[in-house]
Amino acid sequence: MDPQGPHVVVERALELPPSHLPEQASLFLDFDGTLVDLIDRPDAVQVTDRVRALIAALCTRLDGRLAIVTGREAAFVRAQLGLKGVGIAGSHGQEIHFPDGTTSIPETPATLADAANVIARLAAAHEGVLVERKPLGVALHYRMAPQLEGWSRALAEELAESHGLHLQPGKMMVELRAPGGDKGSAVARFLDTPPFAGTVPVMLGDDLTDEPGFAAAAAHGGWGVLVGPERPTEALYRLEGVQHVLAWLEGVLDA
Ligand SMILES: [Mg+2]
Repeated sequence: MDPQGPHVVVERALELPPSHLPEQASLFLDFDGTLVDLIDRPDAVQVTDRVRALIAALCTRLDGRLAIVTGREAAFVRAQLGLKGVGIAGSHGQEIHFPDGTTSIPETPATLADAANVIARLAAAHEGVLVERKPLGVALHYRMAPQLEGWSRALAEELAESHGLHLQPGKMMVELRAPGGDKGSAVARFLDTPPFAGTVPVMLGDDLTDEPGFAAAAAHGGWGVLVGPERPTEALYRLEGVQHVLAWLEGVLDA
């Protein structure tokens, strides 16, 4: 799962996170399943005013030391939040948008368009699977057709192999994307630059793709918060779901 090597996996029951952030904290937040509920059609997600206001207030409180770290395209999340000055790592940490407006975006793999076309053509014949095209990847969502998980994964594995792309499994989805980078490398890159450099990172996320982010937070003296049911994780704490995350963040803001 983590190409950087083995890490300690916590096996005891995870406690709730502390009610306040560390001194000089920075905050890294996953989007889907952390700030917004997972839904059947990912393109139909709606960010509530509550979330928008909360992110803006936290960003101000932390003097800009806040970034969203998501599998989605960064521009989509930027538009949903309607906020400048928030860092965003999109496409599983490969597209980095720094708070000052500068960006670091790798080239799109030459083979991606063909793989995406093959997936779109085959998916069109299977009711309930959705294709999400991104700048650096293509995702096949089967949340509305869970019986097609095996088919979806086999197709993605075959295309990853034939097109030299990275296979990225997620919750009820599988994605082909450009090789290199993950949420851990994204967190580390933010921590290399102002205003994140020298801060204590706290990372929240729900999916397996968030585990490298938890590991990066721990490696820099901070901690991760797993969102959702207990599982083997590199996070130190756990919150039950999106509503618990929002309540905890609002508490942190009031602390
Ligand atoms: Mg998530």
